[in-house]
Amino acid sequence: MKVFIIHAHPESQSFNGALTRAAIASLVEAGHEVKVSGLYEMGWQPVSGRDNFTTVKDPSYFKQQLEEVYATEQNGFAPDIQAELEKLDWCDVLIFQFPLWWFGLPAILKGWVDRVFVMGKIYGGGAWYDNGYFKGKRAFCSVTMGGPAAMYSESGLNGDINQILFPINHGIFYFVGFDVLPPYLVHSPVKLSDSERQARIAEYALYVLGTGSRAPIEYKRLADYNANFVARPDGKSS
Ligand SMILES: Cc1cc2nc3c(=O)[nH]c(=O)nc-3n(C[C@H](O)[C@H](O)[C@H](O)COP(=O)(O)OP(=O)(O)OC[C@H]3O[C@@H](n4cnc5c(N)ncnc54)[C@H](O)[C@@H]3O)c2cc1C
Repeated sequence: MKVFIIHAHPESQSFNGALTRAAIASLVEAGHEVKVSGLYEMGWQPVSGRDNFTTVKDPSYFKQQLEEVYATEQNGFAPDIQAELEKLDWCDVLIFQFPLWWFGLPAILKGWVDRVFVMGKIYGGGAWYDNGYFKGKRAFCSVTMGGPAAMYSESGLNGDINQILFPINHGIFYFVGFDVLPPYLVHSPVKLSDSERQARIAEYALYVLGTGSRAPIEYKRLADYNANFVARPDGKSS
């Protein structure tokens, strides 16, 4: 497997850092190839704007998606975005490693998605969901949280973690065609004992090795929706 890890944590000694290091060691030892974009370490610039491009389609009104389509045609992406696009094309598996911040992605990682998942190359023109650009590739989240597991259960105070991750799993990964694997979750690592934390790190080192054989989350396909993008009541595909 060729595995691309997007690592988003400001402290290299963090538990997130330990998970990423364990994944790299385990994958490399098993003969897989790994590339990592450590967003803080790279000084990733997460704010979208004209700096995303070396080309300009419309100098009088900035419309990001229009500029993305033009840059796709003209090879006009800024070098930092171009480098990430090449790593995405290279990989078979994409992993987002992050702490849950305000029930979502840390801004630096959201900004990576905003700038790198470009219209024209990665989506648009009928390329989305099960007809998406990354069809045949796999992606998943490896997430840590402050709150305990019960708090993130269906009836828990914070709500079901699978619903919280839906905008990432379905709205980002599946939208661009990835098969989405179940997330790897670590609740409250700070409250675990050192040996419990090391056990979770060791478990994750094994979890990443199973990426190729793990069953994806079952989402409906495009054919399961009618012309208004509403699921067919009879459940029949077109
Ligand atoms: C802006 C912000 C928003 C947040 N929003 C939410 C939210 O919406 N929901 C929520 O639940 N939480 C939230 N949190 C909490 C956050 O998700 C957790 O603090 C975070 O996930 C914990 O992971 P960490 O890597 O930062 O842990 P750390 O605090 O870095 O690590 C936990 C412990 O693991 C130890 N450790 C590191 N490496 C190893 C190793 N190799 N072996 C053993 N132990 C090790 C560390 O020393 C530390 O004691 C938020 C936090 C912030 C800052």
